[in-house]
Amino acid sequence: MPKFKSECGYEMNLSDIPCTFEYILLSEEKVEYLANKIEERDLDVDQFFEICDTNSAKVYKCPNCGNLYIEGTKGNFKVYRPSLV
Ligand SMILES: [Zn+2]
Repeated sequence: MPKFKSECGYEMNLSDIPCTFEYILLSEEKVEYLANKIEERDLDVDQFFEICDTNSAKVYKCPNCGNLYIEGTKGNFKVYRPSLV
């Protein structure tokens, strides 16, 4: 069962589909493109997920500490920690 451990020690279970902890980072440009395709009825569900998968970064969000782990190239992750501005 795949798991991802946050810096705080919380273990995210990644085996559920859809996964509670997983988000995708998709540009507004691609969202607009998808919306236009849907409006034109020129996109089916498989194409929708294909475009999302190939144009987004995988993100895990820890529900305990709020850290975001964003997948980079080669499948590695960078951590982004919440801070007040
Ligand atoms: Zn955490």
